[in-house]
Amino acid sequence: MDIQTIGIVGAGQMGNGIAHVLALAGYDVKMTDVSGEALENAMKLIEGNMSRQAGRGKISEDDMATALKRIDTSTTLTDLGPSDLIIEAATERETVKQAIFEDLLPHLKPHTILTSNTSSISITRLASRTDRPEKFMGFHFMNPVPVMQLVELIRGIATDEETFSACKAVVDRLGKTAASAEDFPAFIVNRILMPMINEAVYTLYEGVGNVQSIDSSMKLGANHPMGPLELADFIGLDTCLAIMNVLHDGLADTKYRPCPLLTKYVEAGWLGRKSQRGFYDYRGDMPVPTR
Ligand code: NAD
Repeated sequence: MDIQTIGIVGAGQMGNGIAHVLALAGYDVKMTDVSGEALENAMKLIEGNMSRQAGRGKISEDDMATALKRIDTSTTLTDLGPSDLIIEAATERETVKQAIFEDLLPHLKPHTILTSNTSSISITRLASRTDRPEKFMGFHFMNPVPVMQLVELIRGIATDEETFSACKAVVDRLGKTAASAEDFPAFIVNRILMPMINEAVYTLYEGVGNVQSIDSSMKLGANHPMGPLELADFIGLDTCLAIMNVLHDGLADTKYRPCPLLTKYVEAGWLGRKSQRGFYDYRGDMPVPTR
């Protein structure tokens, strides 16, 4: 199946990165969001990130100009109807994602493949509420999308081979590497990564270390490029909490219970970098630990 037009739902951290790499790879991209401001910010970010790549000689000014012209934005979800492939990258909440697919269905072409960039929600369950579970799968990019090499491809129970191959071909054209994961809570990367981040928050909660000592211990002691709390702020604490809840509910094991301190940060609206405050405060020149 030949994919040329790709629709993206959600212009947040992930949506803008996905639009960036798809447009540079020559796809026609239409990105929607409920918020016009999110779309404007996304286009500014894409332009800034591409300029940086051009400055480093990774892409030419021509590549950049052509790619930017390939991205179209809209606040009307149904404008994605003519797409060959749709990548949903909206807020990590099942009801939000279900409503998006429900609204999209009457406007799609029969061959349109539906995918979700969800970090943890069951692909099989999302697929079962659509008219095309065999053409539905997980298309999970890593953050930041232009930098990270991996894309997890997750088959739901009904996903057919043609759909998998078509998505794999997109990953290949992006020059990224696909990892195939089964549809169990949080798939591969987050099944391993999130319990580590949650444990770092417990380590903070129990006073074993402060933000700085936990992050520098894991950077210098385990050779991680970023500390777990710095990484949690980068991912978004609401997303981290949502993934822990999916692991906890889906696998029914207390080892996945979210740390109460993580819940408290989210309740405060301290969601990490995207809200300027999380385990660090980003409002000044340098990030300052909040504990
Ligand atoms: P984000 O909060 O930065 O962006 C979400 C965007 O979705 C917002 O702009 C919001 O306005 C928009 N949105 C909400 N409801 C919508 C609707 N009904 N229709 C259209 N747009 C809507 O979140 P994010 O970090 O970009 O995460 C998006 C998805 O990607 C989530 O499923 C998340 O689990 C997944 N993901 C996140 C990361 C990460 O590191 N942040 C990594 C991989 C996957």
